[in-house]
Amino acid sequence: MLLLVLSLLAVLVFLAGEYEEGRDQAELEQQSRTVVSDIRGALLRNVQTLQALQSQADNQTVRWEAAAPDVMAEHRELVRLEWRDPALNVVAAQNSAYQANLFASRRRQQARPDVLQACNQAERLSGPAFSPSYFWPTSGGQGLELMEMCIPVSHAGEPVGFLVASYSLPGMLAELAPREWVRGQGLAFTEADGTRLAVASTVSARRSQVASSLLDLPGNALMLRLESPRTISGLFPNVLTAVVSVVSLALLLVVFLLARDMRLRQRAEREVAEALAFRKAMENSLITGLRARDMESRITYVNPGFCQMVGFSADELLGSGLPSPWWPPDRVNEYQRRQEVRISGTPLPRVGYESEFMHRDGRRFPVLIFEAPLINALGEQTGWMSAVVDISEQRRIEEINRATQERMQNTARLANMGEMASLLSHELNQPLAAIASYVTGTANLLSQPAQDTAPPMDDIRLAMQRIGEQAERAGRVIRSVADFVRRRESRREPVSPQALFDSVEPLLALQARQQAIQLDMHVSPDCPEVLCDHTMIEQVLFNLARNGMQAMPEGDPASSSGLRALKMQARLAHPSTHATAKSWVEFCITDHGQGLSPEMRDKIFTPFFTTKSDGMGLGLSLCRTVVEQHGGVLIDEPAQPRGTVFRFTLPAA
Ligand code: ADP
Repeated sequence: MLLLVLSLLAVLVFLAGEYEEGRDQAELEQQSRTVVSDIRGALLRNVQTLQALQSQADNQTVRWEAAAPDVMAEHRELVRLEWRDPALNVVAAQNSAYQANLFASRRRQQARPDVLQACNQAERLSGPAFSPSYFWPTSGGQGLELMEMCIPVSHAGEPVGFLVASYSLPGMLAELAPREWVRGQGLAFTEADGTRLAVASTVSARRSQVASSLLDLPGNALMLRLESPRTISGLFPNVLTAVVSVVSLALLLVVFLLARDMRLRQRAEREVAEALAFRKAMENSLITGLRARDMESRITYVNPGFCQMVGFSADELLGSGLPSPWWPPDRVNEYQRRQEVRISGTPLPRVGYESEFMHRDGRRFPVLIFEAPLINALGEQTGWMSAVVDISEQRRIEEINRATQERMQNTARLANMGEMASLLSHELNQPLAAIASYVTGTANLLSQPAQDTAPPMDDIRLAMQRIGEQAERAGRVIRSVADFVRRRESRREPVSPQALFDSVEPLLALQARQQAIQLDMHVSPDCPEVLCDHTMIEQVLFNLARNGMQAMPEGDPASSSGLRALKMQARLAHPSTHATAKSWVEFCITDHGQGLSPEMRDKIFTPFFTTKSDGMGLGLSLCRTVVEQHGGVLIDEPAQPRGTVFRFTLPAA
C-alpha cells in the first residue's frame, strides 16, 4: 500500500512537473514568436524610415549626408548607411556615430559580396531584401555579426540606385526586441544548427527552457532563440505540483493513520474475543445457574449450569416468558405474584431468597436466588440478572445434622433423668418440709391439754390451707422440673414482677421471721411484665432469697447493725445491659451476709458445690440454667457494705 501510494505520488509529481514544463514551454514559444514579430515589425518600419530618407535627399548627396546621422541616431541597430548607384558604387555613406569605427580597419569592399547578394535579391523582389549575416572582425580580435539590407531606390519609375543599410545583429536584439523580454532571459540569434550569431543576454541558471522562432526575412532567415530559467526547480516546480504533493502526502498520512487505527482495532477485537472466550468458559464451568430476564420477564440469557439444573436446553428457555417452565404447577400463582412485586420496582434483598424449582423430570429442589437489576451503559435498567444455587445438598446435610442433634439430645435427656431426680429431691424438700411443719403445728393445736377451750379452728383452717397450697406447689414443681429436664419449650406467659414476689412472700416471710431478718420487696413503678414460666422463676427467686437468708445466721450481722435485711427489687433494666433492642427487667436479691471469696465465686454455679451440711449444691446452677433458658443472665456481685447481690434479667413481655 505504502509503495503504491509512494509511486503514485512520484508519478503525480512527475506528471505535474511535465505539465508545468509543457505549459512554460508553450508560453516561452509564444513569447519568442512575439519577439520575432516585434523585430520584423520594427525592420519594416525601418524600411519606411529609410525610404523616407532617400526621398528627402531627392538625389542630393549633401542633403542625404545631412539627414542620415539623424536616422542612425534614432536607430542604433544600424551601423552604416550607404547610397549606392545601380552599379552598386557608393554614392554617399554614413557610419554610425555610436559604434567604434567598424569599417576603419577593414575595407568595406570586403562586404561587397553580401551587399551584392542583398541588392540582387532586392532588385528581383523590387523591395527590401537582406543578405545572410556575416562576421565582421573588429580590432582586438573581436567582431560582430552584421547583415546587409538593400532597398532599391527608383525615381519616376526608373531605378536610380540602392539604399544599403548594415544592421548589427546584437544591435537588432538590443534595440528592436522588447526590453522586458531581454531582462532575465537569454536572447540570441542563432543559425539553424544552433550556432550563436549574436547574443543579447544569457541565462546563468542550471536548468532552463529554450524556445526558437524563425525570423523569416526576404533573402535571409534567422533563428531567434529565447531562453528562460526554470524559476521553480526541484521537487515542487510550482503551486499545482505542490498542492498535488501535499494532498498526496496527506493521503499517505491518512493511509498511515488508517493502518494504525486498523491495527489498534484488530488488537481491541482480539482482546474482546479473548475476554468473551474467557467469560464464556467461566460461565460454562460455573455450577451456579445464571439467568437474565428483560423488563417483560422474558429469558434473555441462561448458562449451561442453569440448563442442567432445570433440565431444559438454552434454546427452549431463551425468549420464554411467564410462567416459567421450571415453576412447580401448584406454586405458579405465588411465583407470579412475586414477579409482579419485582416488576413494580420494589428493591430486591441483596441476601437472596429461597424458592423451589421443578426439574423437567418433575423432581423438585430448593434453590437460593440472588437477583440484581441489569443496568446498561446508559444507566437504564434493562432487566434482571439472577444467580441460582441449588441448595438441596445443603438441605440434606442440614437435615442430617438436625437428626444427629436430636439423637444427641435424646441421649442427653436420658442422662438428665438422674439430674431430674436430684433436682426433684432438692426442690421438693422445701414444700414437704413446710407441709411437715404445718402438720406438726396442727397436731399440736388439736392435742392441746386445756380441754376447756375449743381448738382454734381458724388457725387450723389456715394451716390446712397452707398445707394444700404447698402440696399444690410441690405438684407444680414436679411438672416444671420435668419440663425443664426434657428441655421442652415451657409455657411462657406475661407475669408481673409483683405477682412473682407475692407468690414467694409467705414462705420467705416465715423463714425471715424465724431468723429476725427484715424482708424488703420493691417493684419500681415503670417496671413492665415479664415473659416467663412463673413456677420456675418463683423457684429461682425463692432459691436466691433463701441462700441470702442462710448467709446471715443469727448474730452475723448483728441486729444492732441494721444490716439484717434481705432486699428484693425488680426494675426496668438499663438498655446497655443487653445489646438487643428488647426491653429487659432486672431482678436483684441483696443480702448483707458473709459474702463470697473470689475462689468461691468461681465455684458457686457448679452443680453439687455446697458449703452447707444439708445443702445439695444445685440451687444456683438450676437458677442460672432457668434464667438462661429465658434468654437472660444471672450474675453475682459483692454488696455494700457487705454481702452479695445476685442479679438476673428476664425479657419484658
Ligand atoms: P446450696 O444452697 O444447696 O448449698 P447453692 O447452689 O444454692 O447450693 O449454693 C452453693 C453455695 O454457694 C452455697 O453452699 C454457699 O456456700 C454459697 N452461697 C450461695 N448463696 C450465697 C450468698 N447469698 N452468700 C454467701 N454464699 C452463698
